[in-house]
Amino acid sequence: MKKSLYRYYFSVSVFSVFIILFSLPVSAEKSLVRFDNLTQDQIAFFHENGFDVPKTGRDYVEVVVDYSDESLNGSKLPGKSSVIIPDLDEYVSNILSSQTRERAYFSFETMTARLQEWSEQYSEIASLSSIGKSCEGRDIWALKISDNPKVDEKEPSALIVGGTHAREWISVEVPMESIKRLLESYGKDEKLTSLVNDREIWFVPMLNPDGLVFSQTKSKYWRKNRRKIDSSSAYGVDLNRNYGYKWGESGASTSPSADTYMGTAPFSEPETCAIKALTAREHFQASISFHSYSELILYPYSYAKNISCPDNTTFVKLSGEMAKFNSYTPQNSADLYPAAGESDDFIYSEHKTLAFTFELATTFIPAVTQIENICNQNVPAVFHLIEKAGTYALTTPSGDIDICRNLDSKTAFQALCDGKELSESLPFELKYLCQERMSVIEDRLASLSADSSSDFSESLQAVISESAGFESLKKKISDSRKFASLHR
Ligand SMILES: [Zn+2]
Repeated sequence: MKKSLYRYYFSVSVFSVFIILFSLPVSAEKSLVRFDNLTQDQIAFFHENGFDVPKTGRDYVEVVVDYSDESLNGSKLPGKSSVIIPDLDEYVSNILSSQTRERAYFSFETMTARLQEWSEQYSEIASLSSIGKSCEGRDIWALKISDNPKVDEKEPSALIVGGTHAREWISVEVPMESIKRLLESYGKDEKLTSLVNDREIWFVPMLNPDGLVFSQTKSKYWRKNRRKIDSSSAYGVDLNRNYGYKWGESGASTSPSADTYMGTAPFSEPETCAIKALTAREHFQASISFHSYSELILYPYSYAKNISCPDNTTFVKLSGEMAKFNSYTPQNSADLYPAAGESDDFIYSEHKTLAFTFELATTFIPAVTQIENICNQNVPAVFHLIEKAGTYALTTPSGDIDICRNLDSKTAFQALCDGKELSESLPFELKYLCQERMSVIEDRLASLSADSSSDFSESLQAVISESAGFESLKKKISDSRKFASLHR
């Protein structure tokens, strides 16, 4: 029972326009409904009462209305409503039946088979492991792509996650297509080859296999995992409300039947625990978690409005750059509506990772004919983030100093260029830290330039000599070369 729902109406109904919408019984279990002409309080009402709100505009929301939720029986919802998709289970069914051999969404089985195939075919640059088991015992697969993938090489690292929410099938496709292009382009495309050589890239394409299997095999419009909730007939915890940072503080429900149910405790679910353990081990510099829909690029914080995170400047800059590839709107996550316990807030606050969420597409499950297009729009943004994991991210608090000391020469120089540009706009404490990191990176570059067996090339030397504003780097290079020649 959503007690606050009634409280809300007693308190604000005088000021609002209501339309009586729902009366049982209806044949559909869930509909997608748009509510227009809403005030900010009315928008907040949907977010704070366990509703699944995939899209929020300035004065409207698109909401998944679950008719089996008894607390809705006979109740009134605010605004002017229009039904977008009358029967969401039927909608899922139609998408499934429109699939062909050539064009289909990944299932858990086809994804697993493909990952296994790839890890065998490209064993020199790809390594597959299970980072945990779901509630129903399925493997949560992670594919690491790098040269020497079985070794932790102290290279800049990035994490790409898909399939957190069950029905957001498109969120599995973009990570899988990114993997495919990295593997197939290795040794052929110069840029992608250096990403593989000089980064450690982790993909977890399907974090919530149980939910996805349920949604695909039962034609169900399902969001959560498949946790059986004790003491109730309900299933499922919303994994993106179950992470440990500010858990339960906003935009999450304590009702097990709600679509945004936060669970009994932070990290009560094996799926979120798997990400917690992986991020604790790998300390990623940057990450993307894919969801659908809304065509947005979101960044922390999500838990509360009007709280700018310390790395806001970097988030704004990097999300703006990624938006050039997909034309999505970059936005602070809580600007939409506050939701606590989601993954970016946790990964960022715990590890300083530059953590983004992409809301793909304009509907949860786009037609299969759109998959290719959506991947073409978004895969280049993924590659951009992986590249910047070694440049922007290294000069922010997410940068591991040991990685700065271990960079390849091209990444090191790019990190200096990006860091220089970035530091201009950083707040004082971060500017200091950025400059400190850049000095370490300069030392690295100077020592590479003096080492004849390194990857430091004549052409890089020429670029550095001609670049304005790298005086201290030029001096360090010249000193270390003099030193090296004396000891030769
Ligand atoms: Zn989602």
